[in-house]
Amino acid sequence: MHRRTFLRTTVGAAASLAVASSLTERARAATAPFARPRVSEDVLSQHYPFVLPPLGYANDAVEPAVDAQTMSIHHDKHHATYVTNLNKALETQTALQGKTLRELLTGLATLPDGVRTTVRNNGGGHANHAMFWMLLAPGGAKTPSGALASAIVRDFGSVTACLAAMKTAGLGQFGSGWSWLMRDGGGKLTVRGLPNQDSPLTDGMRPVVGIDVWEHAYYLKYQNRRTEYLDAVLATVNWDAAAIAYA
Ligand code: MN
Repeated sequence: MHRRTFLRTTVGAAASLAVASSLTERARAATAPFARPRVSEDVLSQHYPFVLPPLGYANDAVEPAVDAQTMSIHHDKHHATYVTNLNKALETQTALQGKTLRELLTGLATLPDGVRTTVRNNGGGHANHAMFWMLLAPGGAKTPSGALASAIVRDFGSVTACLAAMKTAGLGQFGSGWSWLMRDGGGKLTVRGLPNQDSPLTDGMRPVVGIDVWEHAYYLKYQNRRTEYLDAVLATVNWDAAAIAYA
């Protein structure tokens, strides 16, 4: 058995206003290099009913690394489904409705048998994707700096070695999962692949950079060429966002 097994929105206004708002959002995202740095933390603070935050930038903002169609389906359909299914799972679990997503994922082992796996998969999916969108946000530094860079050099020898480890973990993850750069409570960094939507938080780690290697993340553009996808996405990472996750 896997060791971890135990382990809002206002509707309304006129449609024209909604369109104008969407255009404003796009214009703002296009001019601000990194406008929503804490969306990942915000999602971990959500509790039932969970809400899918907007992507925060245009679907084609990081082409060619991630094509617009993949971005759209990935955020609007896949991520949305994790949120929907997480809400369904907690619909009748009144004792769990006040728990934040962070509390649910770190306390997975304490959840009732009937919802643990659903929260693991869909709560993990919600948290992991919120981080992924933040890490892909256009703009920001393309290489690590400051305390995160120092920690990477200390624990991997170089930034290049760290990125190589992330690529190896992503390529080596059999089936669906993620390649994670994560830190422990003391700040030490490690890279590991985790299956499905398992969150580093469940292992007491803090996610710093997560790369989605589910086929839905790349198949439309890259088909079976996961290695090309990993090269492109690792070169796209917004290290300002990663630095916030690390701090
Ligand atoms: Mn995904």
